[in-house]
Amino acid sequence: MEKIKMQAPIVEMDGDEMTRILWQMIKDELLLPFIDLSTEYYDLGLPNRDRTDDQVTIDAAMAIKRHHVGVKCATITPNAKRMEEYHLKQMWKSPNGTIRAILDGTVFRTPILTPSVKPFVRTWTKPITIARHAFGDLYKATEFRVPGPGKAELTFTDETGTELFCKPIFNFDGPGVVQGMFNTDASITSFARSCFQYALDTRQDLWFAAKDTISKQYDGCFRDIFQEIYETEYKTRFDALSLSYLYTLIDDAVARVIRSEGGFVWACKNYDGDVMSDMVSTAFGSLAMMTSVLVSPDGNYEYEAAHGTITRHYYRWQQGEEVSSNPIATIYAWTGALRKRGALDENAELVHFADTLDRACLDTIEAGIMTGDLAAVCQRSAAPVSSKAFLTAIRGRLETALA
Ligand code: NAP
Ligand code: MG
Repeated sequence: MEKIKMQAPIVEMDGDEMTRILWQMIKDELLLPFIDLSTEYYDLGLPNRDRTDDQVTIDAAMAIKRHHVGVKCATITPNAKRMEEYHLKQMWKSPNGTIRAILDGTVFRTPILTPSVKPFVRTWTKPITIARHAFGDLYKATEFRVPGPGKAELTFTDETGTELFCKPIFNFDGPGVVQGMFNTDASITSFARSCFQYALDTRQDLWFAAKDTISKQYDGCFRDIFQEIYETEYKTRFDALSLSYLYTLIDDAVARVIRSEGGFVWACKNYDGDVMSDMVSTAFGSLAMMTSVLVSPDGNYEYEAAHGTITRHYYRWQQGEEVSSNPIATIYAWTGALRKRGALDENAELVHFADTLDRACLDTIEAGIMTGDLAAVCQRSAAPVSSKAFLTAIRGRLETALA
């Protein structure tokens, strides 16, 4: 069989621990035998980030700007324990944070569904994609632990030094806490656009929720910007595809989500997205079945698995044990990137390959061959296999489907 050609490269970002092992296995078993794989390789494994003073992460993000499509393996975000384990020069920042800061954009997380792994919520038959606004609010807030009696005020002074606003927040008669947070029209607008565009691209309705009855200015601003972008830029195109945009209160949204059948994009403010994405991914069955893509406003796409480097499995693998880590979300990161590359370059063969590999993964699970995490939540009885045996089974189905 002749290998599939690529016209342009994908930015490949290698990572750490168990996912780094899976990364190589996926390339060897499922990609290199079938594709003349063209990638620009960046080693984001922690030792190389340390060696390059994290320059490699910045270089990788800049490469995504050039080539528009990237695929990333999970990476360690160092903490004190990792500093020791890897003898690091510094506690380097999260690579995902660095890449997101350079590319801007929104992260969309979508569960992979297959019939024998039933979501905990019975009505969910289609995936729910969560779009989390990853800028400002609680995550860039200024906080103060109030030691005792005194007053806290909110003031705003414009560029010319004129005080435009000053109001008391609270008069403390004892210890307490106070917090100030912010967001910008620019960031909210770019978030709204990414969400409408993603919903349009994937032909799904868009939901957005906040608490504007209580937070009339702050959440009201989010609501108004979404409404304005919808009406001026997207309504006509949504109507043409019979798609809808729903704004509702966050508590109402939560109730509706649980009763829904899925099949929509749920845009969440930063904190809501943090909390809801973990709830939704767990409720769909397994963290190992969650994909993630960063979509930037100027059309760059970075695909990855939502889970981490699976440290606990890696330590066992290092001891020579067979492990049963699930490679599906990492495979889907690759197929997501290959499919996007194919779409941008009008390479139908590459798109077809990505679709076929996705199907081969699900067919393997439906044939009762799966990793331990899936066997534990599967509706049918299944004996868990090792990552290696699972990949071999997927390869068999892929070869048959492509022949
Ligand atoms: P994790 O790697 O996602 O793993 C947590 C647990 O979830 C695992 O121990 C395993 O449970 C289960 N799990 C996750 N993915 C799985 C898979 N593909 N197959 C089977 N089981 C899977 O999270 P963590 O242990 O909190 O973090 C480990 C490292 O990853 C940290 O250094 C963190 O900084 C990094 N991290 C990176 C990213 C990223 O690059 N995007 C995201 C999150 C975390 P059992 O052990 O019970 O089998
Ligand atoms: Mg979270």
